[in-house]
Amino acid sequence: MTQAQLTNSEIVSAYRAKTKASAQIAGEAQALFPSGITHDSRHLRPYGIYVSRAQDARKWDADGNCYVDYFGGHGALILGHNHPEVTAAVHAAIDQGSHFGAGHEAEVRWAQAVRDLVPSAEKVRFTSSGTEATLLALRLARAYTGRQRIVHFAGHFHGWQDHVTSGYSSHFDGSPSAGVLPGVAEHSSVLPPGDVDALGAALSGGDVAAVILEPTGATFGQVPLPAGFLEAARELASRHGTILIFDEVVTGFRVSPGGAQAHFGVTPDLSTLAKIVAGGLPGGAVVGRGEIFDLLDFERSHDAGREKVQHQGTHNASPLAAAAGIATLEIIARGEAITKANQFAEGLRGGLNEVLARAGVPWAAYGTFSAVHIFTNAGNREVTPATFDPLACGYEELKARQPGLVHKLRLAMLVHGVDFNGWPGGTTSAAHGDDDMARTLDAFAAALTMLKREGEI
Ligand code: PLP
Repeated sequence: MTQAQLTNSEIVSAYRAKTKASAQIAGEAQALFPSGITHDSRHLRPYGIYVSRAQDARKWDADGNCYVDYFGGHGALILGHNHPEVTAAVHAAIDQGSHFGAGHEAEVRWAQAVRDLVPSAEKVRFTSSGTEATLLALRLARAYTGRQRIVHFAGHFHGWQDHVTSGYSSHFDGSPSAGVLPGVAEHSSVLPPGDVDALGAALSGGDVAAVILEPTGATFGQVPLPAGFLEAARELASRHGTILIFDEVVTGFRVSPGGAQAHFGVTPDLSTLAKIVAGGLPGGAVVGRGEIFDLLDFERSHDAGREKVQHQGTHNASPLAAAAGIATLEIIARGEAITKANQFAEGLRGGLNEVLARAGVPWAAYGTFSAVHIFTNAGNREVTPATFDPLACGYEELKARQPGLVHKLRLAMLVHGVDFNGWPGGTTSAAHGDDDMARTLDAFAAALTMLKREGEI
């Protein structure tokens, strides 16, 4: 957001007036953290809210303001905040100790719960985050195939690690983003998302260890994949001896109890999980074909005369994450939670589009499953909100952000008691209900009015 957009703004003034305690904490944070934040996607000017507690689909900031939450723990909280069964499981676990420096029964039960749900999960390895999971999956694929190159798609997010950072939000030509070694970027090819021909050409050289993708498209369907792409990727990967990795960090246990792979009926060789798998606590996993996992096995790799793949991690399979994960997956397996979150998202997308149509704003709310994406139409195309087809747009257009506008939209929503993330949009949970819907739609209408008054739209 530019300085001009920050000053003389009714939205910014209203936000400042409402969030004085957050402003105070933000002032201290600025002295400690770059931009005052601890995760790039929390960047908001003039400052973000500081949250002191959360329950179900709501959270309360340091000033006592209540918000309908669409961050949902960055997508981890499909059951909402503080689900009683998950909270009770974590309380019981912490009473037994937080770290044993040894195996424990809960890690076995947790892995069984994952294997029971996810089709590709013959074997499991826990990590502490989704980023660690994608890092390990790529290492395994390179070791298994003896190849160096990996292929990923422009706009697809796989965490902040070096091998997949270029091409997520910039450097779509695959050149190294700041701090990434040119040699690392050279071994990662960035392809246009959803392009079967480009994938076929990239794999035909026989030198690609792995292709990694978000199976509902970049950023949980913000840039959807064309029908049939997953099947084509599966076929091409098998034909060329390339490991197919589905990054199900978001889609796992959200698209269906068995993730996108169960929903679409396409089984990858390896899958990466995090967020919901750990029930809102830090944790992740790589799951996949047993013979690839043999490379992590001391005895099997020795017997096969192969060098074992290294993998450590102080907090792998943390007892607390295991407890939260088991409790969450038990609820997920019953089925209704995903259906509820999906139904709420569908209703919300429709309601937001009605608000847009009434306001005469050529944007659109779209998405699938429990995702809500708001297309803010940086290219000024003609849009009828209810019939918007994201597949008719290129990924750059779907991801384009007008400087400042999204910040102001988010601030205006916060002023009216709703926390949208910066896509802009968010994920829904089984805890969102009718009151949350009404409040969100009212907030959106009021936010659009404010944005119009300021000449932003
Ligand atoms: N992969 C996907 C698809 C994600 O959405 C994310 C995080 O948002 C990650 C990987 C990285 O996970 P983490 O933030 O746990 O490192």
